[in-house]
Amino acid sequence: MTGVRRLALVGAGHAHLHIIHHLDRLRAAGVEPTLIAPRQFHYSGLATGVLSGALEVAAARVDVGALAARLGVAYLACEASDIDLARRRLILDDGTEHEFDRLSLNVGSVTRDRRGLAADPGVWTAKPLDRLLDLRSAIERFLRARGRSPSVVVAGGGPSGFEIAAALAGLLERHRVVPDVSLVGAAFGWAPAAPITRLTRSLARRGVVVLPGEVLVRAGDHCVLSEGAQRPCDMLVLATGLEAAPIIAALGLPVDGRGRLRVTPELRSINDEGVFAAGDCGVIDLEPRPMAGVFGVRAAPTLLCNLTATAAGGLEPYLPQRRWLSIMDLGDGSGLALRGRFWWQGRSALWLKRRLDVGFVARVRRTA
Ligand SMILES: Cc1cc2nc3c(=O)[nH]c(=O)nc-3n(C[C@H](O)[C@H](O)[C@H](O)COP(=O)(O)OP(=O)(O)OC[C@H]3O[C@@H](n4cnc5c(N)ncnc54)[C@H](O)[C@@H]3O)c2cc1C
Repeated sequence: MTGVRRLALVGAGHAHLHIIHHLDRLRAAGVEPTLIAPRQFHYSGLATGVLSGALEVAAARVDVGALAARLGVAYLACEASDIDLARRRLILDDGTEHEFDRLSLNVGSVTRDRRGLAADPGVWTAKPLDRLLDLRSAIERFLRARGRSPSVVVAGGGPSGFEIAAALAGLLERHRVVPDVSLVGAAFGWAPAAPITRLTRSLARRGVVVLPGEVLVRAGDHCVLSEGAQRPCDMLVLATGLEAAPIIAALGLPVDGRGRLRVTPELRSINDEGVFAAGDCGVIDLEPRPMAGVFGVRAAPTLLCNLTATAAGGLEPYLPQRRWLSIMDLGDGSGLALRGRFWWQGRSALWLKRRLDVGFVARVRRTA
């Protein structure tokens, strides 16, 4: 195996799911990859469709273990819990160690929880997505036991908070129950005022109250908002922003304010040429972008090229797009599409979203 570079692919995020389809190209370049990731990948584009009850969980899930086996990629079904960068070793959560020459991280993000609310069993976080998908079962159990909507408070006024609140309304509507959902957010400036106003009105008609402020604490059956107001709260959902998955901090390399590894346009750490990152867990110093799946998808071909590059060169830069389409699933058969200042809300927006998202999952699962 002289001359073979051992590549550790940590996390089966959007970019690595592309890369493992190119084993021949990696091997031709003398690179032998090992994928280290949990068995299941949940695709965020379809997560709120599952939460609203429009889709089954299987629609948003990719069996990473089975995919790696079909593609012939070496696979370890675990998470990296620590990194010894000096010795080029990963410490895995099954207690074993894994050596590498090159490291590529596509481990995504987790929900930011500055107030330490997530430890309460009545609190669900937007990410990791398996936790969000558990929320649907918890609500359905509540409905069977009590025959009414739980009082759900969604904390966070960003697009995820709105989309989750809309999905919860959709789930309760599907069960023919009047939703009792509040969305509490500090700032609603993530889109032009017109679509936010229209969205807020349509949610109000469906029983979702949008309140300004922040959730400070959950206590018993209510939560306390900033300025002392209280809301009934059987369940609290945190959609309070995202930050890089915690393993990034273990690298000890430069990160930005959201814990993302600072990388060059070639997707390499600014301080270590053997460490690469793509998707939510990395940020290009001069081209920062919000966390969205599209960037992991678009970075994937560049990441593949650069992971197969030799020391002599062949690296390509990746320039993330300045405008991108994002479509929210509103849980009632309609969607809200946004691209820069342009937007539209309606059934056609959701139709387009499903087409793109179902297409992505089908492409990832395809092995022939
Ligand atoms: C409710 C909600 C809806 C969203 N909808 C959209 C949408 O419609 N479109 C869109 O573009 N974006 C959407 N986003 C944002 C999107 O989730 C992220 O931007 C996207 O998932 C990031 O992709 P990624 O490839 O970086 O990582 P991810 O898709 O998060 O994948 C990372 C993977 O790495 C694994 N992992 C984590 N830590 C480790 C470790 N230590 N070792 C090994 N594996 C690890 C994780 O389990 C996960 O499977 C949404 C977010 C939320 C919260």
